Amino acid sequence: MFDKILIANRGEIACRVARTCRELGVKTVAVYSEADVDAMHVRACDEAWLIGPAAARESYLNMERILDVAHRSGAQAIHPGYGFLSENAEFARVCEKAGIVFIGPPTSAIEAMGSKSAAKAIMEKAGVPLVPGYHGDDQSPEHLAVVADEIGYPVLIKASAGGGGKGMRRVDSHTEFRDALDAAKREAASAFGDDQVLIEKYLLQPRHVEVQVFADTHGNTVHLFERDCSIQRRHQKVIEEAPAPGLSQETRDAMGTAAVAAAEAIGYVGAGTVEFIMDARGEFFFMEMNTRLQVEHPVTECITGQDLVAWQLQVAGGGTLPLAQDQLRITGHAFEARIYAEDAERDFLPATGTIHHLRTPAENRHVRIDTGVRQGDAISVHYDPMIAKLVVWDADRGTALKRLRDALHQFIIVGTTTNAAFLARVAGHPAFVEGGVDTGFIDTYRDALFPEATAPSDRVLAAAALYELLTVDKDAEQRATASGDPWSPWHLTDGWRPNSDNFHTLHFLDDNTDLQVVAHYRDDCYLLELPGGQQRVSGELRPDGHLHLVLDGTHLDGWVLQDGSSLTIVMGEEIHRLVVHDPLTAGMEDELREGSLTAPMPGMIRAVHVKAGDAVKEGDALLVLEAMKMEYTIRAFADGVVDHVNYAAGDQVTEGAELLAIGSGE
Ligand code: ADP
Repeated sequence: MFDKILIANRGEIACRVARTCRELGVKTVAVYSEADVDAMHVRACDEAWLIGPAAARESYLNMERILDVAHRSGAQAIHPGYGFLSENAEFARVCEKAGIVFIGPPTSAIEAMGSKSAAKAIMEKAGVPLVPGYHGDDQSPEHLAVVADEIGYPVLIKASAGGGGKGMRRVDSHTEFRDALDAAKREAASAFGDDQVLIEKYLLQPRHVEVQVFADTHGNTVHLFERDCSIQRRHQKVIEEAPAPGLSQETRDAMGTAAVAAAEAIGYVGAGTVEFIMDARGEFFFMEMNTRLQVEHPVTECITGQDLVAWQLQVAGGGTLPLAQDQLRITGHAFEARIYAEDAERDFLPATGTIHHLRTPAENRHVRIDTGVRQGDAISVHYDPMIAKLVVWDADRGTALKRLRDALHQFIIVGTTTNAAFLARVAGHPAFVEGGVDTGFIDTYRDALFPEATAPSDRVLAAAALYELLTVDKDAEQRATASGDPWSPWHLTDGWRPNSDNFHTLHFLDDNTDLQVVAHYRDDCYLLELPGGQQRVSGELRPDGHLHLVLDGTHLDGWVLQDGSSLTIVMGEEIHRLVVHDPLTAGMEDELREGSLTAPMPGMIRAVHVKAGDAVKEGDALLVLEAMKMEYTIRAFADGVVDHVNYAAGDQVTEGAELLAIGSGE
């Protein structure tokens, strides 16, 4: 076993690797960028070295700097985590040359699986079933179009060097093919520096089922069963579970055997994942092999009782696999939900922001939280917007799922938009409860998963009102104490106001609706006029935002978390954001000019499809914004005429910048 290793990553995975090292008594070296000076992973390790500016290219992807730190800190091995350098064969090679162990597979295996096209060729030879398609070298657009026609639409264009859904486009007809190919190639070239693509038959509503494999240097290869990762948005996983629901033992065994064959075909060593796509009949086809630890590895750890990072260290140190195939068993059921800073309502657009409040469910033997951020940390454009992975385990799927839902409702994040409420809706959907998962799940159940926003309930309004009243009281009390004249009527908090009766009207903005709550001051409570009628309310507010509320004699607990003038109110499963509104100062708010389209996030303009004077129809593509290495198409929200366009291809834009404006054309 190693005495000291360097973790060439950040965020939750760096913290997670450090945890196992601590348990095993292995010292850890963190590396960090200028944007991560105060990051959690810096504190999670025994020492931490600055390696460069925020841009990953200059820090977390800077092989030379990382190796230099490894040498100077005396680390014997490097754990690359996932992403960044984890599947970079060149990095594995330079580590080897430098006499530092790369905790991952041999360079040859990374190379063999590095290209989805080449990997498919190898698997074809090894007799592993493939999705019908083309993964050859003739990349001329004409040839690829002919191939796509032959395969039959819909087809999927994938970047050979791809990952993270980048450079991937579904194409439904011949006429769309050329544009989609260009976009896929552009995205692939910018994300991977390689625009080779492959084309596959697009399977309708398949399942994504992957198998965890592990091999050592002594010729042993095992699989640790499967994970179902079918709940996806933008072709990327958001909820994973193990074992896969409804899988027959026969299919499980067949997949395990195929995965082990795939690993053996390339002389695999270490942790790897063989991804399969499964059609409605349960037939499965090889998609790709990921030659690293996966984000979703914790669900496998939960059902097997194994620590995969400990296995990785053991194998990398030359040891044998801790268990043989016949010693591995599935116990219970586990789910992982990925909590991202992203806006589910806006096509899951990544979000940024500072996490002003972060409340997480308590960890215990059923609930595990892998995170790399704390309250006060920023989610920046530089890195992945994942906030945390919530992992739950229980004896069977039903009870584990109940735990998942409960825990999701206890996750409260203020300061950035997150997908937590969306995930809770998925976890609570009857089809998900039944185990009816496929990669089209989110589209199929769109109506239920994206319900119309509802007005806040009386409970939520009462909580907001009580919060405001208690805070105003407290402020007044402090002012009175500080004023030296605590008895002055100007500091009274019982509703005495010059020229006013004994009540106060509170205004809350819900989107743009002004909701009013009239509060009458009583000796022992407030009497609130709420939409549903009058209710008596009293309660206590803790400094951490916990609110104990007594509403007409019913005791309730909730949270009210303030960020500027915005309140996030959590009452049971209801979560609502309201803006405290003072009508006297209103009108000063600069409303977004109607008809203009703004950049949803900082990025670079890739293409502009329209110019001033062009007539556009609702849904027309106007321009393409590249942000976080993905392309987003900005579309017309209504029919009209382009009034002006503020940017050209190649321009950088900041979040909120007005990109163009559409008028009615009159
Ligand atoms: P990446 O490496 O970019 O994540 P993958 O090849 O792993 O790309 O595919 C990501 C997801 O895209 C899969 O989990 C699946 O949902 C979907 N997908 C991939 N290939 C197909 C296909 N041939 N038909 C339908 N969906 C597919």
